[in-house]
Amino acid sequence: MACPWVERHEKDTPTVISEEAVARVLAGTDIVQLVGRYLPLKPSGRYYKALCPFHNEKTPSFIVNPERQIFHCFGCGEGGDAIGFLMKQERWSFPEAIRSLADRAGISLPARLQPHTGGGTGQSERARPGLLEIHKSTAEFFLAQLRHPTIGAPARAYLKGRAIPDSVVEQFGLGYAATSWDGLLRHLVRRGFSKKQVEEAGLALPRKESGGAYDRFRNRLMIPICDPTGQIIAFGGRVLDDALPKYLNSPETPLYRKGAHLFGLHLAAPAIRERGSVLVVEGYFDLIALHAHGMPHTVAVLGTALTAQQIALLRRHATRAFLLFDPDPAGIAAARRCVESLLNSGLEWRVILLPDGEDPDSCLRKRGPSAFADAVAQSKDLMEFLLDRKVSGFDLTSPDGQANAVNTVLPLLGAVENEITRQRYAEKLARRVSLSNEAIVRELNLQVRGRKRDAMPPSLQPRGLPSIEWKLIHLALHHPGAAHRVREGVRPEELLDRTLRRIFQYAILGPEAGRAAIPLAAMEPEAQRMLTELLATDLEEYEGEEAIERALTDYLTRLTLRRTREQGEELRRQIDAAERAGDHAAVAQLQAQFLALGRDRTRPHARAVT
Ligand SMILES: [Zn+2]
Repeated sequence: MACPWVERHEKDTPTVISEEAVARVLAGTDIVQLVGRYLPLKPSGRYYKALCPFHNEKTPSFIVNPERQIFHCFGCGEGGDAIGFLMKQERWSFPEAIRSLADRAGISLPARLQPHTGGGTGQSERARPGLLEIHKSTAEFFLAQLRHPTIGAPARAYLKGRAIPDSVVEQFGLGYAATSWDGLLRHLVRRGFSKKQVEEAGLALPRKESGGAYDRFRNRLMIPICDPTGQIIAFGGRVLDDALPKYLNSPETPLYRKGAHLFGLHLAAPAIRERGSVLVVEGYFDLIALHAHGMPHTVAVLGTALTAQQIALLRRHATRAFLLFDPDPAGIAAARRCVESLLNSGLEWRVILLPDGEDPDSCLRKRGPSAFADAVAQSKDLMEFLLDRKVSGFDLTSPDGQANAVNTVLPLLGAVENEITRQRYAEKLARRVSLSNEAIVRELNLQVRGRKRDAMPPSLQPRGLPSIEWKLIHLALHHPGAAHRVREGVRPEELLDRTLRRIFQYAILGPEAGRAAIPLAAMEPEAQRMLTELLATDLEEYEGEEAIERALTDYLTRLTLRRTREQGEELRRQIDAAERAGDHAAVAQLQAQFLALGRDRTRPHARAVT
C-alpha cells in the first residue's frame, strides 16, 4: 500500500514514495541529529530541549524525544517526526524532505525527480527541485571554468592576489564566470534545462530585441550561496578589477529571498554551536578571510542590516554574537536600524571595532591574526557602544546638553524589554551623562509604562485540561498493557474528538500500534500535532502499575457511563415516539432494551491487565 500522504499529492509530483521507503528513511535518520543541525539542543532527562523555531519564546517548550523520534512544542503545539520537522523548518514538500533525509542516510529512493520537473510553472513548491539542480550544475560549470588553463587564469590570479588558498576555494566552491555572453546558458541547455528555467533561476536575462537570453554573471569570481543544509540556492559574483557594480547577487527566486539567509551558515553552524558565539561580518571576503584564518564560526549578512529572520537563525545556534560591521557612519546607522530586534533577541551582542576602520579581510592581511584577536578582546557591548556614540555628540557640561542627550537615548533604552537589562543600561547612562540614577529611571519608567508585561513562560505540559478520551489514548500509547484494554474497551465511534478518533485508529488499532517510533507523515497536520503532544507528555502522574490500572478502570468506566447515558437518552426518545404513535409492541421492546442498558451500567468494568 502506498503512503496515503503521497497518494493525495500524486497530482502535484511525479513521484510515489512507498510507505516502506518512508519507514526505511526514518529508520536511517536520527531526529536528534537532524534537529541539532538547526537548533542548539540541550539534554533534559530523556528529552532534548530548545527554544522553539516555530514561535517566539524565551523559555524552551520545544522538545525532541529520541525514543519516539518526534519533536513537539508545548508552546505553539507544533509537532511531527523528522520529515515533518524538515517540511516546517525548510518549508519543503513531503517528497523534498524525504529525499533530503534519504540522501543523508545513503538510502536510494526509486523514481528520481527529473531536472525538468515542474520547470516554468511559476509555483515555487514544484520549481524547487529543478532550481536546485540548475544551481548545482551551474556551480560545477563555474568551477570547471576556474580550473581551465586559459579561461580561468585571470580569476586564479585574482585569488592569488588576495592570498586565498586552494583549500578555501574548494571549501566555498568558488568558481569563475567567464567573459562569454552565453557560455553558462548554452551549458545548461545542453544539460536538459530550458531557457525559461535558467531565467527563473536568475542566471540568465532575456534579450529584449531578439527574444534570446544572455548570462547574468560575466567575468566575475563566483561565490555559491547555500541554505543551511549546504544546497546552493543563489550566487554572488565579484568583479576582478575596479568595474562596477563590485558585487552582483542572484535576484530573488523561489529558492532565494534577500535577508532570509546567512552566507556561510552551513559551514559555520558546528563551530558556532561548539563555541556558543558567532562572528557576523558584512561581505563574502570578510567571511572567507576569517574562515581561512581559523575562525570558522563566522557568517555574513550580505547587506547592511541584519533582518529579523537572520537574527532568528543566529539565535538557533549561538548565545553571543560579535558584529564586525565597518565602524563608519553608514555601518552605525545600519546597526541602529536593527537595534530593537537585536536587543530583544535573547542574544548577547558585542561590537568589534577594527583599527583605522579596516574591514576584517584587510585587517587580517595587513596586521595579522594577533591584531584581530586584540580587537575581539576589546569588543564592546552593543548597547553601551550605541549609548556612547549617541551621547558623545552633546555638551554634557551643560544641563541642556545633558537633558538632550538623555532624551535622544531614552527611546533606545525603552526598547529593551528585559527590565533588569534596562535598569543596568540606565545606570550606565546615568554615569555617562553625570546625572542621578533616579532621574534616569524616572524618565525611563515614563517611557515604558503601559507596555504589557511578558506572558508567563509555557510549561512543558499540554495546553488546556486533557479530556477522558485524551487520557485513555495517552495511557494506551505509553503502556502496552493499557493499550490492550483500550483496544478492547473503546470503539472508535465513541470518541467525540475527531482528531483523537483518527489517532486511535492509526496508532492504537492500526498496524503502527506498539511501535516506539510511529511514522507520522501519513496523518493530517492537526493529528500529528496532537499525537506528538500525547507522545511527548510524560506518564508521571501515575506511579506504578497499580495506579495505571486504577486510572484505566476509572477512564473506561466513565466512557462506558457516557455511552450508556447517551444510549438511554436515545431509547427514551424512541419510546416517547412509539407511545405517541400507539405502537405498543415497539414500546415493550424498547423498554426491555432500556432495562438491559441499566443492568449493563451497574456491571463493574474492572478486569485484570493481560
Ligand atoms: Zn513552538
